[in-house]
Amino acid sequence: MGSSTDAEIKTTRAHDEIAHVREMIQACIQCGTCTGSCPNAFAMDLTPRQLWRHVLLDQPEAVFDSRTFTLCSACYYCTLRCPRGLPLTEAMHALKRLAAKRRLPLHKPSSAFYRQFMESVRRHGRVNELEFMSLYFAEMRNPLLPLRYTSLGTRLVAKGKLALRWPVRRRRTLEAIFRKAAEREEGR
Ligand code: SF4
Ligand code: SF4
Repeated sequence: MGSSTDAEIKTTRAHDEIAHVREMIQACIQCGTCTGSCPNAFAMDLTPRQLWRHVLLDQPEAVFDSRTFTLCSACYYCTLRCPRGLPLTEAMHALKRLAAKRRLPLHKPSSAFYRQFMESVRRHGRVNELEFMSLYFAEMRNPLLPLRYTSLGTRLVAKGKLALRWPVRRRRTLEAIFRKAAEREEGR
């Protein structure tokens, strides 16, 4: 028997990774309550119900070709209303983590945004917007990207909602919490 190609190995890995999410939503009865509850469903390319259907059918390509999980704002409404009591918000988080881990080009902007946000919180105990956005732009390596945020940034500064202050020192007050969360994720 010949050795597996890189593509075959990647496909197998994708199926293995998504198995964990499938376990979380195994009891889904496709009732659509999650879709009807989701405030962001209008902007999603797959509704939450459709996304869970692809997970149940073990179709990682369809799942990761979609931006649906990146648009989840973790409001927990679907989780509260699911008649099967499924941890849907956690399942959305798990897909975000997988997409970031696999460094999929489609999800690079949202993964980089999320990572830089969390790293800023980790360093300072709260997000420092100036540092966070600067590091996000640097990671994206797109010189035109800051222009998209100029209007919003200007309005936030004018209203006093955004301080243009670079953090002076790292406090790392949340370090223990971040470490514990990482250990729990690895233990899954
Ligand atoms: S609300 Fe729960 S059971 Fe209904 S489709 Fe969504 S995940 Fe499935
Ligand atoms: S937790 Fe995410 S998927 Fe669920 S209703 Fe809220 S935004 Fe939609």
